[in-house]
Amino acid sequence: MKTSARARRVGIYLRISDDRLKDEKGVKRQEEDCRLLAARLGWRVIEVYIDNDVSATDRRKVRKDYRRMLGDIEAGHIDAVIAWHPDRVYRQPAELEELILLIERKDTEIRTCLTGIVDLNTPAGRLNARMLGAVAKYETEHRAERVKRKIQELVEAGEIHNSGHRPFGYERIYEGEGPRRKIIEDRIDEDEAKYVRDWAKRALEGESLYSLVTDANTKKIKTSTNGAWSYQGMKALLASGRIAGLKEHKRQVVGKAVWPAIISEEQHKDLRALLSDRAEQAKENGAQRNATAIKYPLSGLVRCTCDEDHIRMRTSPSSNRKGPVYRCPPKGDGGCGGRTIRIDDLERLMEKLLFARLEEVEPLDEADPDDPRPALEAKVAKWERRVGELKEELLDGDRPAREIQEAVEVLNSRIAQAQREAAQYGVRDRVLDIDVEQLRKEWEDYPAARKQSLYRSVIEKVLVHPAMPPRNVFNRARVEVRWR
Ligand SMILES: [Zn+2]
Repeated sequence: MKTSARARRVGIYLRISDDRLKDEKGVKRQEEDCRLLAARLGWRVIEVYIDNDVSATDRRKVRKDYRRMLGDIEAGHIDAVIAWHPDRVYRQPAELEELILLIERKDTEIRTCLTGIVDLNTPAGRLNARMLGAVAKYETEHRAERVKRKIQELVEAGEIHNSGHRPFGYERIYEGEGPRRKIIEDRIDEDEAKYVRDWAKRALEGESLYSLVTDANTKKIKTSTNGAWSYQGMKALLASGRIAGLKEHKRQVVGKAVWPAIISEEQHKDLRALLSDRAEQAKENGAQRNATAIKYPLSGLVRCTCDEDHIRMRTSPSSNRKGPVYRCPPKGDGGCGGRTIRIDDLERLMEKLLFARLEEVEPLDEADPDDPRPALEAKVAKWERRVGELKEELLDGDRPAREIQEAVEVLNSRIAQAQREAAQYGVRDRVLDIDVEQLRKEWEDYPAARKQSLYRSVIEKVLVHPAMPPRNVFNRARVEVRWR
């Protein structure tokens, strides 16, 4: 076997044939390895040749840099080649024969990171190379190894999940086929992502998850497994860090992920706080929210002035064929029993008042001195650091574990409380921030529940005063709005 004592002028040859990431990562990894080898041999790297995403078995494609490298060997510009594996350099037997002739004539050395010296200057070496070349034709093993290495690298970096079905909002790119195929990349699927953005926005405006689910299913939007949306599914989607490009472990965000974000990190934080807050509220009330669709957006807000506490008026079918009405409960239920107002009339009036109101509301100052969020965020950051410290103390074992556990729990509940407060402020902020023109255009298409959530965010209650003659004409003076 021929070895060289002199410092060679080396060209690094890089090629990756199945780089579906469409980035330079594959060759970068190879290059690192090759440069290390050159340094170890004391060789000087003169050139780097790169053929990326080109299949050596596809004759229609020309390996441009490979041809350039052969030209440089011929010209004496380089006298050594380093590659990652022999199958990077040649795979077609014809290519190998061409290379053998060239390097023999030009006294060129070939080394690879994985198999060492590729000796094409002796009969035994050439036989070996030809056998390797033949093996390379059935190169599935090497290919699998390269893929495995890439996958392992990604998994170690925590960059992808290797299981689970495709997440909604993303197109999933696989390596290979069938049940053992590997996930390479999650890309944004714009068709689905626009729904994710819409739902996130609406949830933050205060629309209920049930309303979003009903709306999604009415529009026949399918989940990523081609099913109908459920409350749990919607909640899992909107509470997930995934849609904000964040990596999670056991539902805790542990860092940035490689996949792109559909919503902002800030939106994610608000959604998380809001959804966990809702879950706790539901638990406290012991109330099971039911999925019945809301029919009238003003329901719950319309009150009769017959009593001091402004008793809630209930929807009721029309008594005079003029359509449904809000009616004060009967005397036995604490109401006056007599007062009604037509839902249709009231809704039309309220829409006008709502838009007028939204238009006159001035946008909030960038730096609102009353904004409690910066202070809350600072507290949360401090508490989160403390939780981290406590967990380290747990590892030290100097303090009783139970004591530390208790301290962590107290801190965690403080953090949750602060996040809820921040989210509450955020909701009001955003609602006043809406684009009124846009809202006007879309209003007709809003489901009742979405209209309701908007009304609730700006209106405390709608008071209904007694009817005055003429009774058959709608008198808007009967309606008094208490804005928030
Ligand atoms: Zn009443």
